[in-house]
Parts: sequence; C-alpha cells; structure tokens
Amino acid sequence: MRRMASTFRRTRFILALVVLAAFSPAGVLTQAPAPRAASITSPDKFFGFQMGADRKMARWDKLVDYYNLLARESPKIKVVNMGPTTMGNPFLMCVISSPDNLAKLEQIRLNNLKLADPRGIAEADIRKIVAEGKAIVVQSMSMHATEIGGSQMAPELIFDLLSRTDEEAQRILDATIAIMVPSFNPDGQIMVTDWYNKTVGTQYEGASYPSLYQKYVGHDNNRDAFMTNMAEAQYMARILFRDWIPEAYVDHHHMGSFNARISLPPYAEPVRPSADPLLWRELSWYGAHMAYKESEQALTGAITMAIYSGWGHMGFHWITPFHNIAGMLTESASARLASPLYIPPDQLKGGPRNLPEYAEQTTFPDPWPGGWWRLRDIVERQKVAAWATLDLAARNRETVLMNMYLKAKRQTERGAAAETKAYVVSASQFDPLTAGKMINKLLVQGIEIQQAKTPFVLTTGASYPAGSFVISMAQPKMGVVRWMLGETFYPDNSYTRDKDNAPIRPYDMATDTMTEFMGVRSDPIGEAVKADLVKLAAPLERAGMVSKGAAGYTLDGRLNDSFTAVNLLLEKGVAVRRVDHASGFVPGDFLVAAGPESAIAGIAKQTGVDFKPLAAAVSQATHEVKPRRTAIYQRYNGGNSDEGWTEFTLEQFHFPFTPLMDAELKAGNLNAKYDAIILPSDSIATLTGERPAAGGGRGGGEGAGATLPPPEYRSGFGTEGVNALRAFVEQGGTLVTFGGAGALPIERFGIPVRNVLAGKTSKEFWCPGSTLHARFDITNPLAYGMPPQGLVTFLADSQAYETIPTDHSERIETIATYPDREILRSGWLLGAENLAKRAAALSVRVGKGRVVLIGFRAQHRAQTHGTYKVVFNALLEGPEASPARATTDQGKRP
Ligand SMILES: [Zn+2]
Repeated sequence: MRRMASTFRRTRFILALVVLAAFSPAGVLTQAPAPRAASITSPDKFFGFQMGADRKMARWDKLVDYYNLLARESPKIKVVNMGPTTMGNPFLMCVISSPDNLAKLEQIRLNNLKLADPRGIAEADIRKIVAEGKAIVVQSMSMHATEIGGSQMAPELIFDLLSRTDEEAQRILDATIAIMVPSFNPDGQIMVTDWYNKTVGTQYEGASYPSLYQKYVGHDNNRDAFMTNMAEAQYMARILFRDWIPEAYVDHHHMGSFNARISLPPYAEPVRPSADPLLWRELSWYGAHMAYKESEQALTGAITMAIYSGWGHMGFHWITPFHNIAGMLTESASARLASPLYIPPDQLKGGPRNLPEYAEQTTFPDPWPGGWWRLRDIVERQKVAAWATLDLAARNRETVLMNMYLKAKRQTERGAAAETKAYVVSASQFDPLTAGKMINKLLVQGIEIQQAKTPFVLTTGASYPAGSFVISMAQPKMGVVRWMLGETFYPDNSYTRDKDNAPIRPYDMATDTMTEFMGVRSDPIGEAVKADLVKLAAPLERAGMVSKGAAGYTLDGRLNDSFTAVNLLLEKGVAVRRVDHASGFVPGDFLVAAGPESAIAGIAKQTGVDFKPLAAAVSQATHEVKPRRTAIYQRYNGGNSDEGWTEFTLEQFHFPFTPLMDAELKAGNLNAKYDAIILPSDSIATLTGERPAAGGGRGGGEGAGATLPPPEYRSGFGTEGVNALRAFVEQGGTLVTFGGAGALPIERFGIPVRNVLAGKTSKEFWCPGSTLHARFDITNPLAYGMPPQGLVTFLADSQAYETIPTDHSERIETIATYPDREILRSGWLLGAENLAKRAAALSVRVGKGRVVLIGFRAQHRAQTHGTYKVVFNALLEGPEASPARATTDQGKRP
C-alpha cells in the first residue's frame, strides 16, 4: 500500500512538473511575471550566467562590483562597507527601501530603537512610531562559506527588490527597510569559489573544501555571536544588537543532502526559555508564510518546525530571540557546491526532531521525490523564503512594529519581577582585567550596564566595592543577561531522550554561560540595587600603572594579560623570572629586574597590567622564563576549528607559534625547531589519517561515497608522525594535547594513564558542552596563577584520567582534579561518578620531555578565558619545571 501510494505521488509530481514546464518557464503558475524597470542591470547580464547555474559560482570581488553597480543605478539601495574582514576583504551591508525611506533612514532607525527599548517613552509616542515606522528585516548569506546558496541568491533577490514594479514589491519597499548582508564570510566565499573553480571539470569536482573557510574558525563562526572574537561577528553584532535591532533576522544556511529540501522556522523542541512568548509565535508566523510561498510556487520539500531545535548554541539566529528579534534560519539541502547531485528516492531519509519518516506530514506536505538536485534549486527556495519574510513584514508592518514594543516592554517587566533582579559583577575579582573584557563583551550585545561610584551593601549583608558592575534584569534584553550570566541547566526530558531513553545530543553546547567560561564571578541577587550607579557609556579601557622598586617590578601571575606582558617583554629581550614559592607572592607571579622604561610603560598601557614595585630581590625559589618555540598541528580534512581558535587565542596573548603540517612532522628532528607541540582536539584516526574527519564541508557524498580532494589536500601523519612525536618528547619536547587528542599519547606512546570515559555509552556517561567544577594544584607550575577551585569547559569528546601504577609514578603530575560530588555547574551531566576525583589534566614525563594532557577544553573557541593559563603554562614552563614533590635530578631547576 505504502509503496503504491508513493509511486502515485511521484507520478503526480512528474505530471505537475510537465504542466509547469509547458506553461511557465519560470516555474510559477500562480502569478504573472512581475513587471520590471529596465534600467537596472540583471545578475544574468552582469555575471554572464543565471545565479545558481550548474558549475558556476560568482566570486566575492565580482559580487561587490555588482552591488556597487546597483547603488549607482538605483536610488533604492545604499551599499555600506562595514570595514575589512579578518583577511582584509570588504564586509558589506546593503540597505534597500523606497527612495523616500532611504532619505529619512536615520530617523527611521532611531525610532525603531525606541520600540526596542521603550523605557521612558510615552505610549502616545510609541503609537506614532508604530503608525509611521518601517519594519526592519536583516538577512545574512552564506556565513558557512561552503553553503554557497545564499551568496548566489542575494544578487537576484536584491535585483528583484530594485527592479520589480508590481504592488507586492512596492509594498515591501514602502513598508520595510530590507538590510542584506550578502556574504557573512567574504574570506570564505573567496576560498570556496577558488577551490571549486580549481576542481571543476576534474575528478575532484565537488570535493569538500579541505581547510577552515575562515582564517581561524571556519564553521565555528556562528558560535562566535556572543563573544564576537572575529571581525565579521563584530560587524553583525553592531548591525543586529546595537545599530538596528531589527524586527526580524534570517540567516541562510545549507544542511545535509538527504533530508528535506529546505528547513524553515519555527524551531523544533526543546526551546530555550526566557524569550517573550510573542517571539515564538512570530517564528511560527514567518515560517508558515515562507513554507506557504514555497508550496504556492510548487517548490517541493519545505519543512517547518523540524531538524533544528530551539535550544541551540548562542549563534546569531539563536541569540537574536533574546534580543527580542524574530531570529530565524533557513537550511537548504546541499548539492556538491555548484555541481548537481543525483539522489535516488531510497536515499531520502527522515531524521531526528519531527521528521521520523521521509513522508508527508502536516509540516512537510510535499516531499521532494528525488532526482537531480542543483544549486539553482537552492537559490530558488532560499529566494522565496527571503522574499516571503519581507512580504509578511510589509503586509503586517504595524503588527510587527507593535510586537517589538510589546516584547521589549514585557521582557523588561518580567525582569523586574523575576526572582533574580540583577547580576552584580564585583570589582573584586580573581582576574579583574578579564572581568573587564566580559563587561565589554556584554556592551557589544547592547546590554545596559551600570557601575557603582561608591561601595554598596545589599540587604543580605553582601558588600561590593566601588567600581562594581550592576546588570539589571529590568531591561529589554533580560534574556541575554540571563543566559550569559546565569547558571544554565539543559533540559533532560522526553524531548531530549530517544525512545530507548538514551540522551539526544544538544545541537551544540548544553550551556554558553559567558561568566563561567571566562572565570568571572557574577552574583545573582534578589533585590534592586540601591547605590550610586552610573550607566556605562563606553567600553572599559585600562592602562596599567608602572611603579619601579629597588629590585624592579612584579606582575600578578593570576592575570591572563600578564602573559601578554611577559611575551612582549621576552620579544624585547627583557629577562623575566617566575616565583615558585616565596613569601608575599603567589606561585607564578612574574619578576622583572630591569628593562627599558619606555617599553615597560608601553606594555603596561597596552595590556592594562600593573607593573608593581619589587622592593628587594627575591632570594627564594624562582626560575627564568625562557622564550619557547611552539608548533600547532594543522591538518586538512576540512580543517580543525579547535586548531584555528588556538592560534587566534595565542595571537591575542602574543605567544609566537608555527603551524606544523604532516610533511614536516613526519620528517622528524622536531626538537631542533620546537620546544612544545600542540595537538588540538581530534580523534587518533583523524590525526593519523586512518579515517578522515567528516570535515566542515557541505556536499552530497558521505563517508566512503564522498569525492576525495586532490592527494596534496589529504591528511594524517601515520605511524611515522606518531614516532616523530614520541622521539620529540623523549628528547626533551613538550607535547600538549587538548580533549580527544589525549588518546594519541595514551594509546600510541603507552603512557601509564587511562581515559576513564573511553568506551562509555551515552547512558553511562554524558556531558555535552558543560561547565564543571575542578580543583587546581596551584603549586604545580602548570597550574600557576589558577584559582584553587575553578570551572572547566567539558565537551562530548573531552577526557578524564586515572593513572596506572608503575615503578615511576613520580613522573605523573596531576594539574587539575574533579571533586567527588557536585561536579556540574551548568549544562548537562549524566554519570557524574565517572568523573569523581579523576584528573582533568595531568602531565607525564617521558624520557627528557613530557606530555601534558588537558582533558577539557582550556581555550574553547577563545571563550574559556578562565582556563587559558593552563595552556599558557604548558607552553611557558619547560619539562625542567617541576613541583616540589619531584626529588630526582630530573626535577631540579637549572
Ligand atoms: Zn550553516
């Protein structure tokens, strides 16, 4: 029965296609071709091919030329260059509306900001703004550069907006400000276009891009929305969170090839709470209109409320709901970049989250039947979704504007009435400079922050020094405040368990708590703070103070930025020593006997670190800090974003490093060039090349069926590389492994350590993207400057260790340990007993060198500032550094 029904459907579909082909080359029966202004150059004419045509990709430089041409040809578009991308390409924002609206754009923008934060504005004024205002809709394209549909769709969408003269197009121009970011990742757009053009017509055509498609972070660029480390994220944060606060935002992506053709809003369960209910209703509303328009135009395979859960990472489309913006994504099925992909019907499958079978359902009434799938199909579906978003906002302009006001007003009231009324970030912090960075990152989100001019005391008796920060929940963005600063527990319920009761992996992290990641204390308080508070108007800036003592200077080893200062001093040839144990110092404090005073003043100003007076030379244990040569293993197979983030983090703190690839690694003799080698988190199989990584690419084939890249872009260092790394360690090198990469020295070097989580099922142990309590041995140089008790960020592939008894267990030094109970701080943890009292990080001496296994993610996405020092110490402290426990010659300091 089922099979017959499906055959019938397919026949009916093919008939429909024949009818469409006969009557309408554009594939649209329901409306006549739109009338157009002739004076605007079409993309077809400009690029010489139809957008999305087989094996054709418009490159970013040409796209920029096209948008600039449109700006010369049409009074309905302004092209704004937001500034250079990470690699120096222009990052564009195209503002499209009627010439009248563009003439008074600044007034429209300022009025919209009043809806987004209506505190202190009279209701009559609000009603006037709603009556006269314009709905602002931001859409961004192809942030994941291999998901090229968006960057190829945008020229047609913008051309349609500028050239169509029909009533619907006119209404959109009159009623909305359509802001397009035609490429969210121009650097990646260029990388992928050049890659594709190089492989097209060869046996490698359509192979996944082999490296990270953003200088540092590749696919992780969407995980950067709340920390805004990258230039592109900073531009988008400015557009979305501060300058415009649009009524709606759509980010256009691609997904895998064998499911629905396009996934549309709303999100599936579970949703992250604390957004205004109207927000979730709006997502359903926009999504229904997009999906309706797809079906109206006979574009099959659109699904709503599936595949992507409402509780995701705090990427742009997932954090915007907490800014009261209807934040959405579209996800189109991928072809093989611009090459068509043939998909037989039996390869089309359902998947998790509301599409259990590949068959008709309410939210998926017209399944695509299979066949050739092309970039053009993606362009068409995306364009319909993008246009439908504008159409809905235009037809419901006043409702959409009123919604923004209602959401902002009600969230503010909700925050004022909540149990937690504010978070206080005390001026007294373990690392106050890092706390300052957190405050600045909250300002990037457009969060309102107040600073106390004088000390204050709460009714609970808790007291805070002058300079402390108060972040009230009684503000429109209370949802952002809550998720950045508040303890977070991922739901564990029937939405997050499969039918066998096994946990379903969250889309990304189970928590994104900025304050925990950064090691900054922020206290939830249950009362409105009464103190002399001043609203922060600009980012914090702090110049360090310099005061020379008779024996030079001392730097606080607990400050992350002290490491920047030390690296800058070492660059200038200034000698730096480090305190092991001496009265009046914390182990790890830095000592500078002398140095050029102008350079020291410059470094203090640049880093914010105080150079405090050292009255007398320290006679107790100290050791010299030497410049060390670091290499970071870099691979193909789509690149490893953990590697890119590591490079970015080290650059921020002026640690020099060299990328190390297979050929150099396999050649050996690594000690001649390097003192430390980092293996970013990866599986053994990927590191050695026994099994390639899935990669960040979007293309049809999976596993063995995927098109391989040319041989020079394949990776894996094999047994030769393992042997070279082992020789490096035995001859005095330091090998530092992050997360999953710890398996390599454990399994291939045979060090006396076991990963206690290896082989555990998800029901036995489960900890996807969470923060955990850990204790640090701050007398060990590898944990110098850490708090005795802190938080670490644990990912699904992270490790925890137990040691195996040998005759030389003195070679093992535990750096960090999980407590015996109450391990979870935020996120999701099942089987906590597996972690109890286990090592979170340790060092094992092998020959003259050592392996430092950091089982958690100490530098995760350049977000976990709270544990950066564990990485910094591993690079700065050579194997000769040793805790007091070591009594052999090996342990003595030079
Ligand atoms: Zn994507």
